[in-house]
Amino acid sequence: MKLIGPFKQVVTLANLPLRGKLSDEQLEIIADGGILINENKIQKIGNFETLKSENQNIEIEAIEEEQIVLPAFVDSHTHICFGGNRANDFAMRNAGKTYLEIAENGGGIWSSVQHTRNASEEELLKTLLERINFLISLGITTIEVKSGYGLDVMNELKMLRIIKKAQEQTKATLVPTCLSAHLKPRDFDGTNDDYLSYILTEILPRVKEESLAKRIDIFIEKSAFQPEESKIFLLKTKDLGFEITVHADQFTPGSSRIAVEVGAQSADHLEATIDEDIEFLAQSNTVATALPGASLGLGEKFSPARKLLDAGAILAIASDWNPGSAPMGNLITQASILATFEKLTTAEVLAGITFRSALALGLEDRGKLDEGLKADFVTFKTNNFQNILYNQGSLKAESVYIDGKLV
Ligand SMILES: [Zn+2]
Repeated sequence: MKLIGPFKQVVTLANLPLRGKLSDEQLEIIADGGILINENKIQKIGNFETLKSENQNIEIEAIEEEQIVLPAFVDSHTHICFGGNRANDFAMRNAGKTYLEIAENGGGIWSSVQHTRNASEEELLKTLLERINFLISLGITTIEVKSGYGLDVMNELKMLRIIKKAQEQTKATLVPTCLSAHLKPRDFDGTNDDYLSYILTEILPRVKEESLAKRIDIFIEKSAFQPEESKIFLLKTKDLGFEITVHADQFTPGSSRIAVEVGAQSADHLEATIDEDIEFLAQSNTVATALPGASLGLGEKFSPARKLLDAGAILAIASDWNPGSAPMGNLITQASILATFEKLTTAEVLAGITFRSALALGLEDRGKLDEGLKADFVTFKTNNFQNILYNQGSLKAESVYIDGKLV
């Protein structure tokens, strides 16, 4: 066993409800605290001196300077396996060009598909690991990574195999998701229905065979897949034994309702969700995930996080890091900004990037500092946890621990 501390504050996020609004008074903050670790799990949290006297002859990892500690963060929605760069899309969009004009100039998702298909496996793995390391440096140790820039059997499998390879080279937990239903590729000869059937019959059996992903995602939107065909597709993927997540209500409402109806783990985006569907989400176990990085990348409104929490939904916040609509990748900055626009408490934001986003990935063994949970945590050199969001991302994480070990 090993005792780490003392920390000026241990913000445990323990004993908080899974859904609905939170006040900062509900946060458990242990002053001069320590974390007792057994193997890769948390044995106990408490006052450092008390833990020290209760446990003689154990290894002590002393924290010399004034630091605080929180559970490590969980980014439950990213597209960080990609080739190329879409800085020109960003510039054109800001110069007033339309989605169509950008696509006609060689931009849009299709350009990332081409770059990703053309990139070597070495190059994709290298850049993926660089992005993972950046996220770890922010204190994020659980990262969902989607396919969806391959869009045919060979290239979707290539992406998912690279994500699997990356898992062998990082201590962070990667959660792969198959997003072959990102959009129908331009070189596919057939209807949307034909392409969704192709995913079901050609891609998913291979994904299963090689254990490349347990989760399936789909982009339900006017420009991608329509509600009815998507629902049929999702129910079929469920029959195949996959978990489901949905890109829902980004520009037009209606698809979060489908996510709830098919029992999805999460419905992500929700910028366009109408009040009636907020209620629907709030009464379900589908995690509602806000993606402020996409709002900041596109200059669009934020997801109605305040309304979702007030209605009693489980709100997660994720980065949506991707080369097109959300190029920033800094979840802490994004979550801090979402808080100022949507009036979220510190507790609500911290819950949204820890145990609530873990639940969006079906993970219940992390996201809080509590007995028996995975010993992933992040420290900041400050004496007050409020400084994290207050600094909007410019207060950097000091140390990141995975399985109780400094990385
Ligand atoms: Zn996305």
